Amino acid sequence: MAEITIKVKGYKCERCGHEWAPRNKKEKPIICPRCKSPYWNKPKKNNS
Ligand SMILES: [Zn+2]
Repeated sequence: MAEITIKVKGYKCERCGHEWAPRNKKEKPIICPRCKSPYWNKPKKNNS
């Protein structure tokens, strides 16, 4: 049996770079499981 790579759809936190695969694929994660940021899917804005 050959080794294969299974691609799983996951998410990446824009804040800390953490990547993870959600258990519930139907719902978007509310916060990043690592840094707990609710803005994990929103890139930082440089307004300053
Ligand atoms: Zn994060």
